[in-house]
Amino acid sequence: MFQKILIANRGEIALRVLRACKELGIQTVVVHSTADSDAMHVRLADESVCIGPPPSRESYLNIHQIVAACEITGADAVHPGYGFLSENAKFADILAAHNITFIGPSGDHIRIMGDKIEAKRTAKRLGIPVVPGSDGAISDDKEAKRVAAEIGYPVIIKASAGGGGRGMKVAHTEADLEVALQTAKSEAGAAFGDDAVYIEKYLEKPRHIEVQVFGDGAGRGVHFGERDCSLQRRHQKVWEEANSPALNAEERSRIGDICAKAIADLGYSGAGTIEFLYENGEFYFIEMNTRLQVEHPVTEAITGIDLVHEQIRVASGGGLSVRQEDIKFTGHAIECRINAEDPRTFTPSPGTITHFHTPGGLGIRVDSGVYSGYKIPPYYDSLIGKLIVHGRNRVECMMRLRRALDEFVVDGIKTTLPLFRDLVGNPDIANGDYDIHWLEKYLAKGE
Ligand code: ADP
Repeated sequence: MFQKILIANRGEIALRVLRACKELGIQTVVVHSTADSDAMHVRLADESVCIGPPPSRESYLNIHQIVAACEITGADAVHPGYGFLSENAKFADILAAHNITFIGPSGDHIRIMGDKIEAKRTAKRLGIPVVPGSDGAISDDKEAKRVAAEIGYPVIIKASAGGGGRGMKVAHTEADLEVALQTAKSEAGAAFGDDAVYIEKYLEKPRHIEVQVFGDGAGRGVHFGERDCSLQRRHQKVWEEANSPALNAEERSRIGDICAKAIADLGYSGAGTIEFLYENGEFYFIEMNTRLQVEHPVTEAITGIDLVHEQIRVASGGGLSVRQEDIKFTGHAIECRINAEDPRTFTPSPGTITHFHTPGGLGIRVDSGVYSGYKIPPYYDSLIGKLIVHGRNRVECMMRLRRALDEFVVDGIKTTLPLFRDLVGNPDIANGDYDIHWLEKYLAKGE
């Protein structure tokens, strides 16, 4: 087991990882920018190292400084959290070259999944169902037209180097295709420095369903069920559930088993999430994230397994603590992402939190790094906390969520809490009847 882990992140996830390290009796080092000296995880860590000014590229993305902090403090492993360097293959390689363990998969696996065309090809080879489309990058209009005619309109053009929902264009007819292709290519070139694009069938009313997987790096793979993250705004997840209200037990174990086997065959190590669009009973792979996800607590709630403990255990060579048959799903969980944003316009609302009171009681978990008097810096993501509620079934979970949202107080800044208070009373949400476009339509109506 590791003696000392350096946490290369900030905010709620830094605190989340720190808690897991403490429970395992591992010393903690946190790195932070000058804007985060007052953060809760900095106060609670055994050691902290200031690695630079507020802009992320000079601090949380500064590989040189982070490696130096590991060497100064004698950390033997790094947990990258999510975002920042968590899916940076070069970072994983550099740490390996310094004999520091990256708590995550190998640089090569990160690289494969970071390239969407390569990821899709790999998924297909491993027996994961994918969206019908071009077999690799599209070279010209003629090829695009041929592929689109084959799979049928509408189609979506996506950037191979894509991320964050950028560089995607939908074409409804052949007449739209040329313009869509040109726009997608130039946006991809500008955003990612790589204008390779590919085409796939555009699914009109899918749900976003993702499977949590784990590999031990030695040929064993397990799945921890799925999460439904269909409630999104601009491709950003807002509300997540486990399990999905749309799946039955047979579908759950079918897709889970396919994913667990793929992870085993890949020789993958650590936590990963295989993301699908789901429509009319079919799953279509869109991407794999090679890290812990923001929404991992809903999976922890229904399985009772600490996924960060599991990551640390696997990375230290201790293997998985569970076999597939040990993983049981109990009840239902929902997570609401609480952002420091206006609940209608989603404009960021940094500033000082004058009063912070979190709900409590059975089945309630709040993961947050903020406190009364804390000043939210304007430089980073606006996520300030996550409310995770667990109940014996979805109805109980929703009742408890409504009560928890009533108790939650955040004064001094605007937050997305009022949006969740509206959503929890909506009949479609109550019925679990929504797809990936539901939230944007709801917000456009201004209900
Ligand atoms: P990114 O890495 O940029 O987030 P993804 O491939 O994960 O890109 O897709 C992001 C979102 O775009 C999906 O959650 C979905 O809303 C939409 N999307 C992607 N592919 C398709 C498709 N084939 N049909 C319909 N919507 C899609």
